[in-house]
Amino acid sequence: MDKIKIFSPATVANISCGFDVLGLCLDTIGDEMIIRKTKEKDVRISKIVGQILPLDPDKNVAGVAVKSLLQNIEVDCGFDIEIHKNIKPGSGIGSSAASAAGAVFGVNKLLGEPFSLHELIAFAMEGEKLASSALHADNVAPALLGGFTLIRSYNPLEVIKINAPKELFVTVIHPQIEIKTSEARAVLPKNMSLQKNITQLGNLGGLISGLYTENYDLIGRSLHDEIAEPYRSALIPNFDTVKENVQKVGALGSGISGSGPSIFALSKGKETAEKVAKAMAKVYKNTNIDFDVHVSKVNSEGIKILE
Ligand code: ADP
Repeated sequence: MDKIKIFSPATVANISCGFDVLGLCLDTIGDEMIIRKTKEKDVRISKIVGQILPLDPDKNVAGVAVKSLLQNIEVDCGFDIEIHKNIKPGSGIGSSAASAAGAVFGVNKLLGEPFSLHELIAFAMEGEKLASSALHADNVAPALLGGFTLIRSYNPLEVIKINAPKELFVTVIHPQIEIKTSEARAVLPKNMSLQKNITQLGNLGGLISGLYTENYDLIGRSLHDEIAEPYRSALIPNFDTVKENVQKVGALGSGISGSGPSIFALSKGKETAEKVAKAMAKVYKNTNIDFDVHVSKVNSEGIKILE
């Protein structure tokens, strides 16, 4: 096999109570990538369609992630990467993660799968570091493994995949405003009270338990964030109205996707998730902020091979 075409999905990180440790994989929004083996032993990005991003492999997360993989194996070929970008960078649904995870997934397949999916997470994280200057796995892990992922530990890296209940749907709205990651980090307090910690841990345990036992009400009751949302929500216009309105039409819960500005909601069933999409859109229709809305089931397999 000399060429592979893949779908690399968008992801939601944090999921309210899982700040920096939880993520989930989306199904209906993602990039397409074509990766080819080349004779020249280098990594090239020949084409990016849909967004203006660097073709220089050292300035693109896809190139950096592949180079990190190639440092761990001897190969006698190079790779050419083509990215069809549907996930807008800076949207908070893992735009850079889709490229980093997709690139290492494709290259690993073309090499005959010398690395496991879990091993690929570490290489993809090196790519992510370029985008956010921190090593984090909460978007690349769900993109590679699918379902929900929990980062139990970074050192050593241990990621646990949790399957999503079948009827769990995600609605995501991306209000097109810019929030710099540095700004989203800067508003967070350095320390957290014991009481808030206890509440957050209770909710995280509740959400994980709800996923395993398919208890939708428990999932909903657990979707609260004591760490980031109280501070970051002020950066997203109309956040509180969106939250109130989605609850009224039956969402289990909602919160900030990644570091924003996207807002996600979880629902039981597609019908409710679509009502939630309408309720979210209605809020921004009354403003001058452009937006995209997506409804998706949780993608249980992660990156998909198209050809
Ligand atoms: P998101 O908020 O959707 O998770 P990120 O903030 O993680 O998106 O990534 C966006 C940043 O990563 C931008 O600064 C962008 O220029 C940079 N970047 C580098 N390579 C890529 C790529 N292949 N895809 C998306 N963003 C990239």
